[in-house]
Amino acid sequence: MTDAAIATETRDLFSKFDPLINEREALLATGVRDPYAIVMDQVLSPTRAIIQGKETILLGTYNYMGMTFDPDVVAAGKKALDEFGAGTTGSRVLNGTYQGHKEVEDALKEFYGTSGAMVFSTGYQANLGIISTLAGKGDYVVLDADSHASIYDGCGLGNAEIVRFRHNSVEDLDKRLGRLPADALKLVVLEGVYSMLGDVAPLPEMVAAIRKHPNCMILCDEAHGMGFFGPNGRGAYEEQGVEGEIDFVVGTFSKSVGTVGGFCVSNHPKFEILRLVCRPYVFTASLPPSVVATAATSIRKLMHAGEKRAHLWKNSQRLHKGLSDLGFKLGSATPQSAIIAVILTDQMQAVAMWQTLLELGLYVNMARPPATPAGTFLLRCSLCAEHSDDQVTQIIGMFEAAGKATGAIG
Ligand code: PMP
Repeated sequence: MTDAAIATETRDLFSKFDPLINEREALLATGVRDPYAIVMDQVLSPTRAIIQGKETILLGTYNYMGMTFDPDVVAAGKKALDEFGAGTTGSRVLNGTYQGHKEVEDALKEFYGTSGAMVFSTGYQANLGIISTLAGKGDYVVLDADSHASIYDGCGLGNAEIVRFRHNSVEDLDKRLGRLPADALKLVVLEGVYSMLGDVAPLPEMVAAIRKHPNCMILCDEAHGMGFFGPNGRGAYEEQGVEGEIDFVVGTFSKSVGTVGGFCVSNHPKFEILRLVCRPYVFTASLPPSVVATAATSIRKLMHAGEKRAHLWKNSQRLHKGLSDLGFKLGSATPQSAIIAVILTDQMQAVAMWQTLLELGLYVNMARPPATPAGTFLLRCSLCAEHSDDQVTQIIGMFEAAGKATGAIG
């Protein structure tokens, strides 16, 4: 008896997963590799790894600035490991605040020019913690329908009313805010760059719409904007000139910063109180000393990364043009960020393309519903400032070969 057969015959708390189990079994029975079970046997650089014995170009890492192998970043991590040990074994509010946690919060305050900075163990926890603590029962969280899962989960944990507006629609945002009670407290959550399609939010127009309504605070998630957008790399909100209008910026160390962790920065005078009342901050262990040391070093280097930003932008424009010239349908008509999403018709075609690219030596992310908007199947490419011109040429060649082999392009 197969696992799937067992699953469908025995009703228990796993029964609700049967459709997914069956769909996955059917897909794997066609002989394709499991897109969600890739193992990096060796990582050679921010852009190259060995996967199942084959040297592979990495084009799905969100390692935008290529800081994972920066020699200063790696050295800072090793030093902290030697001097402070492997972990803190404690919460930030008990024994888990070391000098390194203070240093990374100071680096963030300098990077963002804010009076407050709070570091969490992941970006997921930063959204979970900040949103659930700010907006509780009786409050409203107004969010873009394509918001990241951590934003939705923050609303769930806080028990706030969720009001969704159509993706990047200023008109719908305005309309929905207008329907809420004037005296209710509202948190509007935006993302600078949306991770599925790589499109950027029209922040000045959104801020203008929000400011027409009373009692609104604005949180902007810059997970995919930090490092790359704006003169100081703060994010899309800096590039679009709305810094003075955003009450909270949430971000992650797991993309441009090149390690793991999350944060929120703010100028609100009462911001510090969140350290005592934010459950995903209080009731979990703090980041290891080596991680905060690598993050602090990386953030300080990102303040002076103009050349890397320029090269990443060039790579993004070249890949966008190369793929659209080949006839692929992309998530945004023009290059807007370092994420380029190739939209495919169905799961079979997406998996066939993904596997052919892997066999050719290219790793991209495959994304499927419910993570993707409007039920689409996507091959998500994220460029890195360390991709060479030659690698970008090779990548376009691999897409051409895979597209023709699978029938995704003519
Ligand atoms: N926000 C957004 C928009 C994200 O895309 C992600 C991660 N993909 C996160 C938050 C969570 O970040 P982390 O990986 O640090 O948990």
